[in-house]
Amino acid sequence: MTKVFAYVLVRTEPGTSHQIVSLRTMPGVVLAHSVFGRFDAVLVVSANSLEELSTKVYEIVSKQPSVVKVETLVCLPTPSEKAPKKKEEIKLVTSFHCPSCHALNEVEAATCFFCGYKFK
Ligand SMILES: [Zn+2]
Repeated sequence: MTKVFAYVLVRTEPGTSHQIVSLRTMPGVVLAHSVFGRFDAVLVVSANSLEELSTKVYEIVSKQPSVVKVETLVCLPTPSEKAPKKKEEIKLVTSFHCPSCHALNEVEAATCFFCGYKFK
């Protein structure tokens, strides 16, 4: 079952945002933080459906007496994660100049591909 997530922005009576943050132990509350800004607390709430989500937001947040305003931002479904891209291997081509002819040689080369100078 696909879970529904929402960011719940809460404005509280001054000095009471910790009461909202303490709701982090409630089932369905994923995250809860006091924040600076236009709101006093932000919660992430998860549920199994939109109906359940709205009930939860009401039960957990809206009915708290210290809550002045609630804005619920429901997350859009995230497209299913594709198989992680295989990181292109970055091949470090380290080259150096032949001390004899100054041609560029790969670091593993034992002899210069150009003049045959023995490196090792
Ligand atoms: Zn050379």
